Amino acid sequence: MKDVLIIGGGFAGVWSAAGAVRAAREAGAGDALRVTLVDGGDDMVIRPRLYEDAPEGMRVALDRVLGPIGVRRVTATVTGIDTEAHAVRAVTRTGEELNLSYDKLVLATGSRLIRPDFPGARHIFDVDTLPAAAALDHHLRRLPAEAPSQGRYTAVVVGAGFTGVELATALGERLKAISGAQGATEDARVVLVDLADVVGPELGPGPRPTILDALDELKIERRLGRTVASVTRRDITLSDGEVIPAATVVWTAGMAASPLTAEIPGERDRLGRLSVDEYLRVAGVPDVYAAGDTALAAADDGRTTTQSCQHALPMGKFAGHNVAADLLGTAPLPFTPDPYATCLDLGPADAVYTEGWDRRVALTGPEAKALKKKINETWIYPPTDDAEQLLDQAGRFSNG
Ligand SMILES: Cc1cc2nc3c(=O)[nH]c(=O)nc-3n(C[C@H](O)[C@H](O)[C@H](O)COP(=O)(O)OP(=O)(O)OC[C@H]3O[C@@H](n4cnc5c(N)ncnc54)[C@H](O)[C@@H]3O)c2cc1C
Repeated sequence: MKDVLIIGGGFAGVWSAAGAVRAAREAGAGDALRVTLVDGGDDMVIRPRLYEDAPEGMRVALDRVLGPIGVRRVTATVTGIDTEAHAVRAVTRTGEELNLSYDKLVLATGSRLIRPDFPGARHIFDVDTLPAAAALDHHLRRLPAEAPSQGRYTAVVVGAGFTGVELATALGERLKAISGAQGATEDARVVLVDLADVVGPELGPGPRPTILDALDELKIERRLGRTVASVTRRDITLSDGEVIPAATVVWTAGMAASPLTAEIPGERDRLGRLSVDEYLRVAGVPDVYAAGDTALAAADDGRTTTQSCQHALPMGKFAGHNVAADLLGTAPLPFTPDPYATCLDLGPADAVYTEGWDRRVALTGPEAKALKKKINETWIYPPTDDAEQLLDQAGRFSNG
C-alpha cells in the first residue's frame, strides 16, 4: 500500500484526492493506494463567493465529498515538510502533534492576502477567508445599531482589481438595503481606492469600459493613484491627505502563495509559487507535486497559470491523476488547461465575461450575469454524497 498525502482541502486539494482515487480505480488498483487529505478545517471553502452576502454558507463539508470515495481525512494544520524524510508535521485542533509520511505529496494549500501594516490596520476587514468575510458581514449587519455618524454607511474598498471590483459593486447594494431599513438609503456610499491610475490594472483595457460604466451606474467613487496612510474606526486617510469618513474599510490588494511553499526546496516566483513541470511535479524535488495557488505551471497560449479556481480545479485533477500514475506505473497526463477566460461580477450592473489573455469582452449584461451565477452557484461546487458523480467529474479535465 502506497501513501498519497494531499495538504489542503480547497479546489486543488479536493480534486487531487478525487483524481488520484479515480486513476487508481481506472488502473484496477483501487486498493494499492491510500489517499489522505489533511486540512486545518472541516470544510472546503468556496472562496470566490466570499464577496457575496451571507458568506458563512459558502462551504461544503469535506466529509460529504471525500467520505464516499474512501479518502482518509485528517483535521490538522501542517507546520513543516521534510522532503528528504518524506514526512509532514502537523498539529491538531487539540494541540496534538502528528507526523504523517508519504510516498507522493501534493501541496495544495492555496494563497492568502497580504495584510498591510499602516497605522490602524487592525480596523480593516477582508474577504480572503471565511472567518474574515463573516466578520465583515456581521459588522455590516450591525451598522444600524451604531451611533449615527457621517461615514456609518460608507465603505472604502482598497484594491481595484478583480476582488475589489466584485466586492465594491456588491457592497453598494448591501449598504443600501441595510441603511434603507432606517430610511437612510442616500447615505450609502462606496469608494474604490487603488495605487494604480486605472481601475482593474491587471484586467487590461478590454473589459475596462464595461467596468467603468458599471461603477458610474452604481455611483461608486474612485480614488486612483493613491493608497492608504492610516485608518481609524471612523475614517480612512489616503496618501494625498484626503480623509474619508467610513465605518467600513476592506483590503483586497496583494496575494501570496501559502507559506508552506517555503518548506519545499524548489524554485519560487514573486508570489511564492513553486515552479512545476508539465505533470505538476515540483521541479527538482522528488515525489512532490503542487497544484492550485501554490503552483506556477505553463498554461495555454504560452502563458503561466493564474491564482484562480479556473486553474486550481483542473490542476488538482491532473496532479491527482499523476501522483497515482507515478506510483502505479501508468501513463501520466500533461496539464492542459482550457483557453483562458474570466467572468467578473458587477453586482446590480450585471457582469462581464472575457475570453483570451487579452480579455476580449464576449458577454455583458444579463447574459454575463447568468453565466457568473452558474459558475458561482453550480460549476465550482464538487458533487456531494455521490462517489460515481465525483469520480466521473474527476476524469473530465476541461472546465467546460
Ligand atoms: C474574494 C475572492 C474572490 C475570488 N474570485 C475568483 C473568481 O471569480 N474566479 C476565480 O477563478 N478565482 C477567484 N478567486 C481565487 C480562488 O478562490 C483561488 O484561486 C482558489 O481558491 C485556489 O484554490 P486552492 O485549492 O489552490 O486554494 P484554497 O481554495 O485557498 O484552498 C487551500 C486549502 O488549504 C488549507 N490550508 C492552508 N494552509 C494549510 C496548512 N498549513 N495546513 C493544512 N491546511 C492548510 C486551507 O484551509 C484551504 O482549505 C477568488 C478568491 C477570493 C478570496
